[in-house]
Amino acid sequence: MFEGLSDRLSGILSGLTRRGALTEADVTAAMREVRRALLEADVALEVVRGFTDRVKEKAVGAVVLKSVTPGQMVVKIVNDELVAMLGTDAETVDLNAPAPVPILMVGLQGSGKTTTTAKIARRLSDREKRKVLLASLDTRRPAAMEQLAVLAKQVGVESLPIIAGQSAVQIAKRAMDAARLGGFDVVMLDTAGRTTVDEALMAEAAEVKAATRPHEVLLVADALTGQDAVNTARAFDERLGVTGIVLTRMDGDSRGGAALSMRAVTGKPIKLVGVGEKVDALEEFHPARVANRILG
Ligand code: GDP
Repeated sequence: MFEGLSDRLSGILSGLTRRGALTEADVTAAMREVRRALLEADVALEVVRGFTDRVKEKAVGAVVLKSVTPGQMVVKIVNDELVAMLGTDAETVDLNAPAPVPILMVGLQGSGKTTTTAKIARRLSDREKRKVLLASLDTRRPAAMEQLAVLAKQVGVESLPIIAGQSAVQIAKRAMDAARLGGFDVVMLDTAGRTTVDEALMAEAAEVKAATRPHEVLLVADALTGQDAVNTARAFDERLGVTGIVLTRMDGDSRGGAALSMRAVTGKPIKLVGVGEKVDALEEFHPARVANRILG
Protein backbone atom coordinates (compact mmCIF):
# COMPACT_ATOMS: atom_id res chain seq x y z
CA MET A 1 0.00 0.00 0.00
CA PHE A 2 1.12 3.55 -0.81
CA GLU A 3 4.01 2.20 -2.92
CA GLY A 4 2.80 3.66 -6.20
CA LEU A 5 2.00 7.01 -4.64
CA SER A 6 5.22 7.02 -2.69
CA ASP A 7 7.30 6.45 -5.83
CA ARG A 8 5.49 9.18 -7.71
CA LEU A 9 5.76 11.76 -4.94
CA SER A 10 9.41 10.99 -4.25
CA GLY A 11 10.14 11.48 -7.94
CA ILE A 12 8.33 14.82 -8.12
CA LEU A 13 9.83 16.15 -4.91
CA SER A 14 13.38 15.05 -5.57
CA GLY A 15 13.10 16.94 -8.86
CA LEU A 16 12.49 20.06 -6.79
CA THR A 17 15.23 19.46 -4.24
CA ARG A 18 17.86 18.82 -6.92
CA ARG A 19 17.40 22.30 -8.27
CA GLY A 20 18.86 25.30 -6.51
CA ALA A 21 16.50 28.21 -6.95
CA LEU A 22 12.77 27.67 -7.43
CA THR A 23 10.23 29.90 -9.10
CA GLU A 24 6.51 30.05 -8.47
CA ALA A 25 6.06 28.33 -11.85
CA ASP A 26 8.24 25.42 -10.69
CA VAL A 27 6.08 24.95 -7.61
CA THR A 28 2.87 25.23 -9.64
CA ALA A 29 4.09 22.61 -12.11
CA ALA A 30 5.15 20.26 -9.30
CA MET A 31 1.78 20.65 -7.57
CA ARG A 32 0.02 19.79 -10.80
CA GLU A 33 1.95 16.51 -10.82
CA VAL A 34 1.27 15.94 -7.12
CA ARG A 35 -2.41 16.48 -7.80
CA ARG A 36 -2.36 13.87 -10.55
CA ALA A 37 -0.49 11.38 -8.37
CA LEU A 38 -2.99 11.79 -5.52
CA LEU A 39 -5.97 11.41 -7.84
CA GLU A 40 -4.46 8.25 -9.31
CA ALA A 41 -4.07 6.94 -5.76
CA ASP A 42 -7.85 7.42 -5.49
CA VAL A 43 -7.76 10.31 -3.02
CA ALA A 44 -11.02 12.30 -3.02
CA LEU A 45 -10.99 15.23 -5.44
CA GLU A 46 -11.99 17.81 -2.82
CA VAL A 47 -9.17 16.64 -0.56
CA VAL A 48 -6.61 16.75 -3.37
CA ARG A 49 -7.59 20.28 -4.32
CA GLY A 50 -7.36 21.59 -0.79
CA PHE A 51 -4.05 19.85 -0.27
CA THR A 52 -2.24 21.17 -3.35
CA ASP A 53 -3.70 24.67 -2.88
CA ARG A 54 -2.40 24.83 0.68
CA VAL A 55 1.04 23.54 -0.23
CA LYS A 56 1.30 26.00 -3.10
CA GLU A 57 0.18 28.91 -0.97
CA LYS A 58 2.73 28.14 1.72
CA ALA A 59 5.51 27.30 -0.73
CA VAL A 60 5.32 30.43 -2.82
CA GLY A 61 5.55 32.51 0.32
CA ALA A 62 8.64 34.68 -0.09
CA VAL A 63 10.51 32.95 2.73
CA VAL A 64 10.47 29.54 1.06
CA LEU A 65 11.38 30.49 -2.49
CA LYS A 66 14.17 32.80 -1.35
CA SER A 67 15.61 30.31 1.09
CA VAL A 68 18.88 28.47 0.48
CA THR A 69 17.14 25.11 0.14
CA PRO A 70 13.69 25.89 -1.27
CA GLY A 71 13.13 22.33 -2.52
CA GLN A 72 13.64 20.87 0.91
CA MET A 73 11.31 23.42 2.42
CA VAL A 74 8.61 22.44 -0.07
CA VAL A 75 9.13 18.78 0.91
CA LYS A 76 8.66 19.74 4.56
CA ILE A 77 5.45 21.61 3.74
CA VAL A 78 4.15 18.59 1.80
CA ASN A 79 5.00 16.36 4.76
CA ASP A 80 3.27 18.66 7.27
CA GLU A 81 0.16 18.94 5.12
CA LEU A 82 0.04 15.16 4.68
CA VAL A 83 0.20 14.70 8.45
CA ALA A 84 -2.55 17.31 8.93
CA MET A 85 -4.68 15.57 6.32
CA LEU A 86 -4.25 12.23 8.09
CA GLY A 87 -5.23 13.62 11.46
CA THR A 88 -2.02 14.81 13.21
CA ASP A 89 -2.18 12.70 16.38
CA ALA A 90 -2.63 8.96 16.80
CA GLU A 91 -5.96 8.27 18.49
CA THR A 92 -7.07 5.18 20.33
CA VAL A 93 -10.31 3.62 21.46
CA ASP A 94 -11.62 5.82 24.27
CA LEU A 95 -12.75 3.92 27.36
CA ASN A 96 -13.00 6.96 29.58
CA ALA A 97 -16.56 6.37 30.81
CA PRO A 98 -18.24 4.44 33.63
CA ALA A 99 -18.04 0.66 33.23
CA PRO A 100 -19.39 -1.23 31.45
CA VAL A 101 -18.38 0.99 28.51
CA PRO A 102 -20.52 0.19 25.44
CA ILE A 103 -18.80 0.19 22.05
CA LEU A 104 -20.99 -0.08 18.96
CA MET A 105 -19.38 -1.68 15.92
CA VAL A 106 -20.97 -0.73 12.60
CA GLY A 107 -20.16 -1.27 8.94
CA LEU A 108 -21.05 -3.11 5.78
CA GLN A 109 -21.10 -6.88 5.58
CA GLY A 110 -17.72 -8.21 4.52
CA SER A 111 -15.84 -5.11 5.71
CA GLY A 112 -14.19 -7.17 8.45
CA LYS A 113 -16.44 -5.95 11.26
CA THR A 114 -16.69 -9.19 13.23
CA THR A 115 -12.99 -9.97 12.89
CA THR A 116 -12.14 -6.40 13.92
CA THR A 117 -14.44 -6.64 16.95
CA ALA A 118 -12.46 -9.67 18.12
CA LYS A 119 -9.14 -7.99 17.35
CA ILE A 120 -10.05 -4.94 19.44
CA ALA A 121 -11.38 -7.15 22.25
CA ARG A 122 -8.08 -9.01 22.29
CA ARG A 123 -6.16 -5.77 22.46
CA LEU A 124 -8.28 -4.34 25.29
CA SER A 125 -8.11 -7.60 27.19
CA ASP A 126 -4.41 -8.42 26.74
CA ARG A 127 -2.84 -4.98 26.75
CA GLU A 128 -5.20 -2.97 28.89
CA LYS A 129 -6.38 -5.81 31.11
CA ARG A 130 -10.04 -4.96 30.58
CA LYS A 131 -12.77 -7.51 31.04
CA VAL A 132 -14.56 -7.54 27.70
CA LEU A 133 -17.95 -8.99 26.73
CA LEU A 134 -18.78 -9.49 23.05
CA ALA A 135 -22.33 -9.69 21.70
CA SER A 136 -23.48 -10.24 18.14
CA LEU A 137 -26.66 -8.42 17.16
CA ASP A 138 -26.86 -10.06 13.74
CA THR A 139 -30.25 -11.70 14.22
CA ARG A 140 -30.61 -12.61 10.55
CA ARG A 141 -27.37 -14.53 10.26
CA PRO A 142 -26.94 -17.19 12.94
CA ALA A 143 -23.57 -18.01 11.36
CA ALA A 144 -22.35 -14.50 12.20
CA MET A 145 -23.33 -14.99 15.83
CA GLU A 146 -21.47 -18.30 15.92
CA GLN A 147 -18.46 -16.68 14.26
CA LEU A 148 -18.24 -14.03 16.99
CA ALA A 149 -18.56 -16.69 19.72
CA VAL A 150 -15.72 -18.70 18.14
CA LEU A 151 -13.54 -15.60 17.79
CA ALA A 152 -14.25 -14.60 21.40
CA LYS A 153 -12.94 -17.97 22.59
CA GLN A 154 -9.94 -17.61 20.36
CA VAL A 155 -8.97 -14.23 21.83
CA GLY A 156 -9.85 -15.28 25.38
CA VAL A 157 -12.84 -13.06 26.12
CA GLU A 158 -16.45 -13.91 26.89
CA SER A 159 -19.36 -13.69 24.50
CA LEU A 160 -23.01 -13.30 25.37
CA PRO A 161 -24.88 -16.63 25.23
CA ILE A 162 -26.96 -16.81 22.06
CA ILE A 163 -30.74 -16.89 22.56
CA ALA A 164 -32.71 -17.37 19.36
CA GLY A 165 -35.67 -15.11 18.58
CA GLN A 166 -34.50 -11.91 20.29
CA SER A 167 -34.33 -8.58 18.47
CA ALA A 168 -31.07 -6.63 18.13
CA VAL A 169 -32.18 -4.17 20.81
CA GLN A 170 -33.17 -6.97 23.17
CA ILE A 171 -29.79 -8.62 22.74
CA ALA A 172 -28.01 -5.30 23.28
CA LYS A 173 -29.93 -4.67 26.50
CA ARG A 174 -29.27 -8.21 27.67
CA ALA A 175 -25.57 -7.66 26.97
CA MET A 176 -25.53 -4.46 29.06
CA ASP A 177 -27.33 -6.20 31.94
CA ALA A 178 -24.99 -9.18 31.78
CA ALA A 179 -22.00 -6.85 31.75
CA ARG A 180 -23.23 -4.95 34.80
CA LEU A 181 -23.90 -8.13 36.72
CA GLY A 182 -20.67 -9.76 35.62
CA GLY A 183 -18.42 -6.79 36.37
CA PHE A 184 -17.28 -6.28 32.80
CA ASP A 185 -15.36 -3.15 31.80
CA VAL A 186 -16.33 -3.08 28.13
CA VAL A 187 -19.24 -4.40 26.05
CA MET A 188 -18.68 -4.60 22.31
CA LEU A 189 -21.87 -4.78 20.26
CA ASP A 190 -21.33 -6.21 16.78
CA THR A 191 -24.27 -4.93 14.72
CA ALA A 192 -25.60 -6.64 11.61
CA GLY A 193 -24.03 -5.65 8.31
CA ARG A 194 -25.59 -5.43 4.86
CA THR A 195 -23.95 -5.45 1.48
CA THR A 196 -25.01 -1.84 0.89
CA VAL A 197 -26.02 1.05 3.11
CA ASP A 198 -29.76 0.57 3.56
CA GLU A 199 -32.41 2.15 5.69
CA ALA A 200 -33.31 -0.98 7.66
CA LEU A 201 -29.68 -1.42 8.67
CA MET A 202 -29.35 2.20 9.78
CA ALA A 203 -32.68 2.20 11.63
CA GLU A 204 -31.76 -0.91 13.58
CA ALA A 205 -28.32 0.41 14.50
CA ALA A 206 -29.87 3.75 15.52
CA GLU A 207 -32.32 1.95 17.76
CA VAL A 208 -29.50 -0.01 19.40
CA LYS A 209 -27.57 3.20 19.83
CA ALA A 210 -30.50 4.91 21.54
CA ALA A 211 -30.97 1.93 23.87
CA THR A 212 -27.32 1.55 24.90
CA ARG A 213 -25.79 5.04 24.50
CA PRO A 214 -22.40 3.77 23.30
CA HIS A 215 -19.28 5.69 24.25
CA GLU A 216 -17.70 4.82 20.91
CA VAL A 217 -19.39 4.13 17.58
CA LEU A 218 -16.65 2.55 15.49
CA LEU A 219 -17.14 2.21 11.76
CA VAL A 220 -15.26 -0.64 10.10
CA ALA A 221 -14.48 0.07 6.44
CA ASP A 222 -12.53 -1.83 3.81
CA ALA A 223 -9.54 0.15 2.52
CA LEU A 224 -9.59 -1.79 -0.73
CA THR A 225 -12.91 -0.18 -1.66
CA GLY A 226 -11.27 3.24 -1.93
CA GLN A 227 -13.73 6.11 -2.24
CA ASP A 228 -16.65 3.79 -1.53
CA ALA A 229 -15.21 3.31 1.96
CA VAL A 230 -15.19 7.09 2.43
CA ASN A 231 -18.77 7.45 1.15
CA THR A 232 -19.89 4.62 3.42
CA ALA A 233 -18.25 6.33 6.37
CA ARG A 234 -20.04 9.56 5.55
CA ALA A 235 -23.41 7.81 5.31
CA PHE A 236 -22.93 6.00 8.62
CA ASP A 237 -21.68 9.15 10.31
CA GLU A 238 -24.65 11.23 9.19
CA ARG A 239 -27.07 8.72 10.59
CA LEU A 240 -25.26 7.29 13.60
CA GLY A 241 -22.61 9.78 14.67
CA VAL A 242 -19.45 7.77 14.20
CA THR A 243 -16.66 8.46 16.74
CA GLY A 244 -13.85 6.65 14.96
CA ILE A 245 -12.94 4.54 11.97
CA VAL A 246 -11.11 1.25 11.63
CA LEU A 247 -9.76 0.68 8.13
CA THR A 248 -9.31 -2.97 7.30
CA ARG A 249 -7.23 -4.73 4.62
CA MET A 250 -4.44 -2.21 4.86
CA ASP A 251 -2.24 -5.23 4.14
CA GLY A 252 -3.81 -5.47 0.67
CA ASP A 253 -2.76 -3.58 -2.43
CA SER A 254 -5.05 -0.60 -1.99
CA ARG A 255 -3.80 2.55 -3.67
CA GLY A 256 -4.24 4.42 -0.40
CA GLY A 257 -7.13 6.72 -1.32
CA ALA A 258 -9.41 5.69 1.53
CA ALA A 259 -6.71 6.06 4.16
CA LEU A 260 -5.69 9.43 2.79
CA SER A 261 -9.14 10.97 2.37
CA MET A 262 -11.05 9.46 5.27
CA ARG A 263 -10.15 12.02 7.91
CA ALA A 264 -10.43 15.05 5.66
CA VAL A 265 -13.81 14.05 4.22
CA THR A 266 -15.54 12.73 7.34
CA GLY A 267 -13.75 14.72 10.04
CA LYS A 268 -13.50 11.48 12.00
CA PRO A 269 -10.21 9.89 13.06
CA ILE A 270 -8.87 6.58 11.80
CA LYS A 271 -8.28 4.94 15.17
CA LEU A 272 -6.94 1.57 14.12
CA VAL A 273 -6.07 -0.34 10.97
CA GLY A 274 -6.47 -4.02 10.14
CA VAL A 275 -3.40 -5.53 8.53
CA GLY A 276 -4.31 -9.20 8.11
CA GLU A 277 -6.76 -11.97 8.85
CA LYS A 278 -5.23 -13.07 12.14
CA VAL A 279 -6.62 -11.74 15.40
CA ASP A 280 -3.40 -9.92 16.23
CA ALA A 281 -3.26 -8.13 12.87
CA LEU A 282 -4.40 -4.75 14.20
CA GLU A 283 -2.30 -1.60 14.45
CA GLU A 284 -2.60 1.96 15.62
CA PHE A 285 -2.74 4.63 12.95
CA HIS A 286 0.08 7.14 13.31
CA PRO A 287 -0.30 10.03 10.83
CA ALA A 288 3.36 11.09 11.05
CA ARG A 289 4.62 7.56 10.40
CA VAL A 290 2.26 7.10 7.48
CA ALA A 291 3.37 10.41 5.97
CA ASN A 292 6.98 9.30 6.40
CA ARG A 293 6.27 6.06 4.60
CA ILE A 294 4.58 7.87 1.74
CA LEU A 295 7.39 10.39 1.31
CA GLY A 296 10.03 7.69 1.79
P1 GDP B 1 -17.98 -8.82 8.44
O1 GDP B 1 -18.99 -9.41 7.50
O2 GDP B 1 -17.83 -7.36 8.23
O3 GDP B 1 -18.20 -9.16 9.86
O4 GDP B 1 -16.57 -9.42 7.99
P2 GDP B 1 -15.65 -10.54 8.65
O5 GDP B 1 -15.12 -10.08 9.95
O6 GDP B 1 -16.36 -11.84 8.62
O7 GDP B 1 -14.43 -10.55 7.63
C1 GDP B 1 -14.55 -10.91 6.28
C2 GDP B 1 -13.22 -11.48 5.79
O8 GDP B 1 -12.24 -10.44 5.78
C3 GDP B 1 -12.67 -12.56 6.69
O9 GDP B 1 -12.13 -13.57 5.87
C4 GDP B 1 -11.57 -11.86 7.48
O10 GDP B 1 -10.55 -12.75 7.87
C5 GDP B 1 -11.07 -10.86 6.47
N1 GDP B 1 -10.42 -9.68 7.08
C6 GDP B 1 -10.89 -8.88 8.06
N2 GDP B 1 -10.02 -7.88 8.34
C7 GDP B 1 -8.96 -8.06 7.51
C8 GDP B 1 -7.71 -7.35 7.31
O11 GDP B 1 -7.40 -6.34 7.94
N3 GDP B 1 -6.88 -7.85 6.34
C9 GDP B 1 -7.20 -8.96 5.62
N4 GDP B 1 -6.33 -9.37 4.69
N5 GDP B 1 -8.36 -9.64 5.76
C10 GDP B 1 -9.22 -9.21 6.70
